[in-house]
Amino acid sequence: MSRVPLRRAFADLPPYVPGARVPVGAAAYKLSSNENPYPPLPSVVAAVADAAVDINRYPDMYATELTEAIAASILVAPESVVTGCGSVAVLGHVLQAVCESGDEVVMPWRSFEAYPIAITLAGAVGVPVPVGADGRLDLPALAAAVTPRTRVILVCTPNNPTGPAVHADELAELLAAVPKDVLVVIDEAYVEFVRDPLAADGLAAFAEHSNVVLLRTFSKAYGLAGLRVGYAVARPRLAAGIRMASTPFGVSHVAQLAALASLRAVRELMTRVDKIVVERARLLDVLRSQGWTVPDSQANFVWLALGDQSSAFAERSARAGVLVRPFAGDGVRISVGEPEATDLLLEVAADSSPR
Ligand SMILES: *Cc1c(COP(=O)(O)O)cnc(C)c1O
Repeated sequence: MSRVPLRRAFADLPPYVPGARVPVGAAAYKLSSNENPYPPLPSVVAAVADAAVDINRYPDMYATELTEAIAASILVAPESVVTGCGSVAVLGHVLQAVCESGDEVVMPWRSFEAYPIAITLAGAVGVPVPVGADGRLDLPALAAAVTPRTRVILVCTPNNPTGPAVHADELAELLAAVPKDVLVVIDEAYVEFVRDPLAADGLAAFAEHSNVVLLRTFSKAYGLAGLRVGYAVARPRLAAGIRMASTPFGVSHVAQLAALASLRAVRELMTRVDKIVVERARLLDVLRSQGWTVPDSQANFVWLALGDQSSAFAERSARAGVLVRPFAGDGVRISVGEPEATDLLLEVAADSSPR
């Protein structure tokens, strides 16, 4: 046993629980981590193979070509884009760049389970603001939680794990209410899946407000979860600070070339996203017809607020061959995957239906 103490803040920190994995050789669908069910495109696999022959070298530290391609794809300056080892890492770098020890970070809860960990690691203090029973963020309450110690507000839209997207008028009110020296981080990990016409436009908010930072990822819609590429969009001075806080060479050469190939294949990849959105609608429709109350989802997952039944539901679902993600005592998050997986899940849901 080592006697070296860990930081006191770690004592009551909940660990990040990864979605259950399919055991080797088992027949099961993995709907527990919001992954893209489609395998990589041949052009992406070819880019990975090309990159493999250079792995004796360090990658381009600032992922120059990828950064320029991302910037061009969202019409911002390359100086405003900071890539990193998944957007979870980029969030950590954002917090490290702006938080002094003891500063407050206002966050919705329940939301992405990486938030409390990243906040604590940055030496800051998380201030949770409850998400509504309808799974929607309470933006007036987030704004009202700001104190002189608040450095950052996290806005997860669509919210993981509940599903709804923040609306444009709600975000506009929050941005009008919050002091200009408080950073508003809009986590858009699922932005490509949003179809709600009222949803907020993060890039428009970024263009209008100098205290907005966007977080995006190649893990979900682009199907590169295994390669760890995400990025922040920030004003150049903030972006430089985030770069300063970043792990050197945090995005591998393999990941950089795969992300570049994915941007080149964006049409094909967004066709897949459209199919996932259609499957999401089917999953939501059937669950509701079975008698379930399910929040709107603008992401690639749906949320069942099962309370203390959550773990039991996840176990039943696993026995039926579908792994979902329980949040004990709260609810179950079900990723939208293969239609066959939806069918199996819906059978389990029908058997447990409140009706
Ligand atoms: C999946 C997810 C991310 C992205 O994670 P990566 O580190 O880029 O794989 C970020 N935010 C939320 C809310 C997510 O669900």
